[in-house]
Amino acid sequence: MNVTIDFGGTNIKVGLVQDGKLLAKSSIPAWSDSGLLARLSDSARSVRELLAEVGAELSQCVGIGIALPGIVDSRRKTLTSINEKYTDAIGFDFSRWAKEEFGLPIAVENDARAALIGEAAYGAAQGEKDAVLIIFGTGIGTAALMDGQVLRGRHHQAGILGGHLSTDLEGEPCACGNVGCVEAQASHWAIPIRASKLPGFANSSLANDREWGYEAVIKASADGDVFASELLEDLIRHWSAGIVNLVHAYDPEVVLLSGGLMKSSELLLPRLQERVGALAWTPWGKPRFAVAEDPEISALLGMSFMAEQAAAVSGAEG
Ligand SMILES: [Zn+2]
Repeated sequence: MNVTIDFGGTNIKVGLVQDGKLLAKSSIPAWSDSGLLARLSDSARSVRELLAEVGAELSQCVGIGIALPGIVDSRRKTLTSINEKYTDAIGFDFSRWAKEEFGLPIAVENDARAALIGEAAYGAAQGEKDAVLIIFGTGIGTAALMDGQVLRGRHHQAGILGGHLSTDLEGEPCACGNVGCVEAQASHWAIPIRASKLPGFANSSLANDREWGYEAVIKASADGDVFASELLEDLIRHWSAGIVNLVHAYDPEVVLLSGGLMKSSELLLPRLQERVGALAWTPWGKPRFAVAEDPEISALLGMSFMAEQAAAVSGAEG
């Protein structure tokens, strides 16, 4: 059994995983603006509560895996860079914390990479050797698997910055420093900012919403709101461009989609697939599209897989 923690921007998810199956999970608020280190003791308490819930002891756990939303050095097991939230965790020694708190070896990884590892080991990309994952969450996270290896790269950023590939050179400034990133054009946090500058917004039902994003656009469009329908068309162009960029970069067999936007996968999947199929240069055929079964837990499953490996290494080192 492994302990897994996924530090999201809104919630911290804690899970116990055995053989690729989630035994129990809980969630606590992240309060990410106040940093990550302040949430470690509550996270550890959640782990102990979960263990009690399933009637297990810490001594039955093999390792711990932590997923983080930022650039992660999985070898040194620390965060190297992150936008705005959780900045206090940069350079933090997670190994030492896990040893002192739980006496367990630890694995640390970027959350999108963790999700792809989880999906490739146990989920919708099981058995695949070449895949890209795009998570349409608050932002847009990505990861790539080539020839069975998840890409990490010289500076730990290979594959994970697909949300920061531009889809509009005249587009919105992004928190990453670039301009017109698909995340700054078409992610949940960015949609209201960009939409409010477009002509016709004031007449749309969306103008009355205070906090809105993916779901509101899709619903308003279905309700016949003309502005929302045009906005949705525009978003599909950006999302498709983002996927085409990944297909051209990483040559995947499978395009795996995840995140809150995929609640509308029935509506979106055929349209994304059609547009990507028409635009991507793939003379060998067309990549298969798949949707993560349970986006809430793929990173936890991936971190359990990595914790297993970390424990094996730690055992071999004695
Ligand atoms: Zn960006």
